[in-house]
Order: sequence, then C-alpha cells, then structure tokens
Amino acid sequence: MPNILSLTFLSAALTTLSLLSPSQATAYISAAQIPVAQIPATQIPAVPARTLALPGQVQPVAPGTRRAAAIPELTLSPPMPQVQRVRYLSNGHIEVASAVLLLRGDEVAQARTLAATAAARALAARPGLSEVDVSVYNKVGYGGFGGPLPILTLSVPRSRLADVARWAAGGAYERAWEAALSPPPGNLMPGNPTPSSLQSETIADKVREKTTNFFGNVTQKVQDAGNRNASRARGGIHNGLLYGGDPGKPVAALTFDDAPHPMYEPLLLDLLRRGQVKATFFVIGRNARAYPYFVRDMVQQGHEVGNHTYHHVRLPPLPISSAETELRLTSATLQGITGQPVRYFRPPGGDYTPATLNAARSQDLSTVFWTDDPADFQNPGDEVLETRFERRLRPGGIILLHDNAQETINVFGDFLDFARRRGVTLGTVSDLLAGKRAAAPSALGDHRPRR
Ligand SMILES: [Zn+2]
Repeated sequence: MPNILSLTFLSAALTTLSLLSPSQATAYISAAQIPVAQIPATQIPAVPARTLALPGQVQPVAPGTRRAAAIPELTLSPPMPQVQRVRYLSNGHIEVASAVLLLRGDEVAQARTLAATAAARALAARPGLSEVDVSVYNKVGYGGFGGPLPILTLSVPRSRLADVARWAAGGAYERAWEAALSPPPGNLMPGNPTPSSLQSETIADKVREKTTNFFGNVTQKVQDAGNRNASRARGGIHNGLLYGGDPGKPVAALTFDDAPHPMYEPLLLDLLRRGQVKATFFVIGRNARAYPYFVRDMVQQGHEVGNHTYHHVRLPPLPISSAETELRLTSATLQGITGQPVRYFRPPGGDYTPATLNAARSQDLSTVFWTDDPADFQNPGDEVLETRFERRLRPGGIILLHDNAQETINVFGDFLDFARRRGVTLGTVSDLLAGKRAAAPSALGDHRPRR
C-alpha cells in the first residue's frame, strides 16, 4: 500500500512541478528534497526561465484569471493635483470610496491636510457615500497597493468629518495611521530585529490560494495525507493541520484571505454585520500595519484574525529562518493591534512543507486549509461564482474567499441566504472547531449592488 500511495503522491508532485518554469521547479525540488533524477525531463516544459518570486517581488497571476469589472471613479471639485484617483463601490447597501494620493517630497509635511481635504471633497462629490478611505504614498517609488507601504492612511466615515478636520490641525484620530509614528515591525519583537531581506515592506500580492501544495519527500507525503484524511473525515486539527470541521455538525467556516484592503473592508464588514455572520480573516502583516483600524474593526465586530505571513509570500522556497520571521512578525503585528494571541495560519498559495508546518506549530499556530475554493480571485462572473458557492457548501466545510474580490461582494448576501436555507451556519474557524451553532442570521433582502 505505501508503494501505491508513494507513486500517487509523487505523480501529484510531478504534475505541480510540470506547471512551473525550470528555475521554479528546481527550487521546489530542492525544497521538497525529491532527487532531481526522479523528475523525467519531459515533465518540465521548456518555458522561459523566471526567477522564483521572493519577498517584495510580484508573483504571477493565477491561470484563468479574468480582469475585474471596471470600478467607477469620482472627480473632485476643485481637483487636487496630488489625487491619483478616487474609486467607489457599493455592496448593495452602502457605498465606500478609496482615494489614492501621491505626494512630492516637499508636500509630505502637508500630508494630513491633503488627506483630510481629499476625503471632504470626495464625500461632497457623492452624497450617497458612507465612507472614504484615503491612502497617501510617496510619489517616488509608488508601486500600487502591493508596492512600498503608504506614508499615511485614513478611514473617514461621513459622520467623522469634523474629527478628521481636528486631526488635520494636529489633534488625535483613531482611524488614521502614519508610517512616521508607527514602529517598524521588527521593534514589535524585542531582540528580534527585522532581517534586512524583510525590510523593504513591499509585497508579493498577486499569488492567490487555489490548491494546497505540500512539498516533502515520499514518507512526508504519506504522513501529510494521513493528517489530511483524518482531518477531512473526522474534522478538527490533526498534527497542526486543519482541513475541515465535523461533517456531522451543520457549521461551516467562512474565511477571507489577504485582508485588509481599503474600500473592500468596510463593504465586507457591513455585509457580515447585516447577515449577522462572523468570519475568520487571514491577514497580511504589512497590510495590517498600514490599516490597523480595519483589523480592530474585525475583532470589535466579533470576527477572528489569522496569520497570512507578513509579505504574502510562498514560504517553501525561503530559508526557514525567513519563513519563521514572516510568521512571527505577522502575529506580533496583529497582537499589537488587537491585544489577542493569533491561533491560525494560512499559507499563501496553499504551499507548505514539513518545515513550515513545524515553524507554525512552534509559534502555537494551526495551519488552516479549506474544503471549498470558488476561485473568486479569478473573476469568473457573478452567476458562476454563486453556482460554485452553492455547489460546494457542506457541513464541516471551510470556505476560502478573498476580501478584495468584487464579485464576492456582489453575490455574498445571496450566498448567506442560501446557506441559511440549507441549514448550514457560517462562522469563524473557532466556531467550526467548536461545532458552534450561532443564532440564525436575518434575511438581507435585495443585495445586488446598485451603481
Ligand atoms: Zn493569500
């Protein structure tokens, strides 16, 4: 039996490797400790060599991914030369805007005033907006959301405009973050300064979780399959891994990866609040650092916060010390914001090895996978996404979503209604493990976004 299993797992590993470029395959083989001689040359396609993505590098977009629908933009009056753009989105109940400002070096001293002005003008430009999120970057080196961190971020619910004006004049405001006033993440861990390789604060944000990929030798693959099958069959954590809850209890976990994002976070939290549903957010450490108030909102509203690495990087190719630092920095950042210990970890890309599992275990983190991935990051279209949601929903399941997927925002309310009709209670990973049945959520009515 072990021989048959071994062949099956080696075949699965080779299929994964065949999707990689030669340089990627070499790195993964090395991480997996599979002798190179065992890999038939014909399994590795002759595609242009790419270097394996490391922290700070943008990783390839998953195959099959379609472009997201265009998001409408606001025009401010009078216009501000520092505003790159203001986009806005609805979740069918509220509208939230996200403004991006790019500042020259001589404008940085005015960052507060410029951010507050942009927020006020955006709220004036569209009276239906509930909130404006502002992200202010240095113009030099700006690389989008996944590039260098902003120098200032701000969340402005319409009712808080006066508070923001006082903050711009030098006061305090708890929904603002400024890099200059925020300790670097290494300082969160006394005696553990941030390694230079992790100081860039840039991110590999394009990798999305699609399949779980275990990299290990044949014996380790057999062990991993045993843990996976036990977790799937009986539910619960086995040897530090969670693949599912008790299939006999009518509870499924709702998990959102890659949080937090400006604009999407308030829209999603609003939908969860209306549906009276709690979820587990797997949070990217650097994004939590720049938008701490969204992480606070999650916990204050009863949601759970998990670790998704600091830079959202695939761990198997990294030296294990860097992988450990990715986990430690993220847990320290989250605990610094919420005051609560972090219990769960989800590996970016679903990639893991015995060493990364050990690293997580040694930091009291259980590694959490999923049973249901409707691939919302591929933008398959609202109807396709909804069909995928409904087809896979099951007691004991773990649903994988992403918190910045527009189509998930579009169909989420209908999905909550469907789960309720099916008698499946959605909750956090902890709820799943406890088999806890929450109070039935209320109906949401018509959730389709209106623009
Ligand atoms: Zn992710």
